[in-house]
Amino acid sequence: MSIELVPPGSDVLNQTAEPIMPSEIETPEVQAMIDDMLDIANGEQGNPKKPTMVGLAAPQVGLLKRIIIVGVDAEGMGEKPELRAYVNPDIVRSAPETMIGREGCYSTSRVCGIVERSSRVTIRAFDRLGNHLEETYEGWPARIFQHEIDHLKGIRFPDRITDDSRLHWVEEEEFGEYRRRTGQIGQSTAAARSGKPSSRVGSNNSSRSCLHLF
Ligand SMILES: [Zn+2]
Repeated sequence: MSIELVPPGSDVLNQTAEPIMPSEIETPEVQAMIDDMLDIANGEQGNPKKPTMVGLAAPQVGLLKRIIIVGVDAEGMGEKPELRAYVNPDIVRSAPETMIGREGCYSTSRVCGIVERSSRVTIRAFDRLGNHLEETYEGWPARIFQHEIDHLKGIRFPDRITDDSRLHWVEEEEFGEYRRRTGQIGQSTAAARSGKPSSRVGSNNSSRSCLHLF
C-alpha cells in the first residue's frame, strides 16, 4: 500500500479536495486510491486495540480528491460496518431536525466532542463504477456522511462545535470512562437546539457503543 493516514497537524487536512472527472472514476489510478482507502479503513477495523473505523476521507490519507469511505450500516454499537466508497459526494438535502452525538477523528488526535448534526441527509455521488447514486440516511450513517464530506472542505468536527464544554481531550485509557460519562447523550434529537439537558430518545444503546473514529 502506497498511502497511509497523515498526522493530525498536516496542512492537507485544511485544504479543499478536488472533484474527480466521471470519466476518470474507472481508471486504474482512481480505483487504486479507493482500494487503498478501503484497505486502511478495514485494517483499522481489524485492530482490536483501536476503536471501530466507520469512515475515511481522502485528505486523511494525503489525497486531495473527493472520495470518502462510509460505514453505511453503522449503528454506533461498535459493530464492523459495511464500508462503501463514494466519489464526489454532496449533501443535497438536510433535515432541519438535529441530533447530538459523540465524534472522534483520526485527524484530531485525542480530541473528541459532542457535535450537533442534521438527523437526516440525502447525498448524491458516484459509486466506484461511475454510477449515479442518490441515497438518504438517518442517525449514525447520516452523521458519518456529514463528518466525511466536511473533510473534503478542510473542515474537522471541532470546527462545528461552538460550546467549548463539548470539546474533550480523551486519553486512550479514558475512552471507557468517557463513553460512560457521555452515554446519556447518544443521538438525542434536537436536544441541543432546545437547550434542554440531553436525554435518551427511544431505544438507545450508545452507552455500549465504541468510541468511533472517522
Ligand atoms: Zn474525521
